[in-house]
Amino acid sequence: MGAPETDKLIGPRATTSLVSRAAPLASAARQLQVLERTGVAPFKATLRPAAVEIFQINVGKLCNMTCRHCHVDAGPDRTAEMMSRETVELCLAALDRTAAATVDITGGAPELNPHFRYLVEQCVRRGKRVIDRCNLTVLLTGPCRDLPAWFAERGVEIVCSLPHYRKRNTDLQRGDGTFEKSIEALERLNAVGYGQGNPRLRLTLMHNPAGAYLAGDRASMEREWKQGLKDNYGVSFDALIALNNMPISRFLEWLEASGNLHAYMETLVNAYNPATVAGLMCRNTLSVGWDGRLYDCDFNQMLELDARYADGERAHIRDFDPARLAARSIVTARHCFGCTAGAGSSCGGAIA
Ligand code: SF4
Ligand code: SF4
Repeated sequence: MGAPETDKLIGPRATTSLVSRAAPLASAARQLQVLERTGVAPFKATLRPAAVEIFQINVGKLCNMTCRHCHVDAGPDRTAEMMSRETVELCLAALDRTAAATVDITGGAPELNPHFRYLVEQCVRRGKRVIDRCNLTVLLTGPCRDLPAWFAERGVEIVCSLPHYRKRNTDLQRGDGTFEKSIEALERLNAVGYGQGNPRLRLTLMHNPAGAYLAGDRASMEREWKQGLKDNYGVSFDALIALNNMPISRFLEWLEASGNLHAYMETLVNAYNPATVAGLMCRNTLSVGWDGRLYDCDFNQMLELDARYADGERAHIRDFDPARLAARSIVTARHCFGCTAGAGSSCGGAIA
């Protein structure tokens, strides 16, 4: 049985970015205040970083879509927040000073950054495992149409967001027509070898719930999705990961507007699972913002909760200092309950 309709991301089909509407929640400080006012207990776990294994680079907020649940507040209007070539070079220099084996490139739609291919190429040359976080539909836009083959030549791993394997749930979050485009993009990726069990051409789908409830059991969903997408559309993928929706940005706006905010925060807090803490992504990931500011994770980045050295100074890629970063404490707030609920949630999916 599915969730009640009132708990789903329903509403007018199209949305726009909070920034373009000058909505109060465009302010990160306002988002944190709203979460504080829910009255749920503060997040108390003290988190310390482990060795950096994943160097995550958010190259900007520009996106060809404007999904209702977006934690980035990305959209076609977000052209101002775009990582420059100079900052890309600083990222590469910093990467060379870490032992991170994986570079995780995200956005927005990262492929729309003019320096995206250069960044990927440089990371591949360094022997890194490179992940592109792709929204699928961008692969059908003019300058990106050759990307499936380009990725395949370089062995780039693709992690594609697709809210659901059924059309209705996907289009509710992402807009009408998204599902068909996503299927066409999956066909293109399959055509060059992705999603067929080849470890060099790995295609992962990333699911997030279509409403104010936690992600379901990953293994059973993966079986269901594989079957559903193969039988109905003839497309395949290698693995499914499931993320909880974070109560920030546009999903926070929807939670408030639909009257689900308090119940959702209680759901997250009541489902707190201490077994997830050791595997939280903020412990082994360093997140770089489009302007070079450093964060413990992409969620903290959107809330402008900068990583801080032990003396309180904000960390920035231009004065990257691995030893000082290793001595920091991770910045937490109530949104962190989104990562520790149930089986946990991270860019790599469930934790525990
Ligand atoms: S959720 Fe992803 S695809 Fe959707 S608007 Fe945000 S960045 Fe773009
Ligand atoms: S939002 Fe999640 S990953 Fe980020 S600091 Fe909080 S617990 Fe860690």
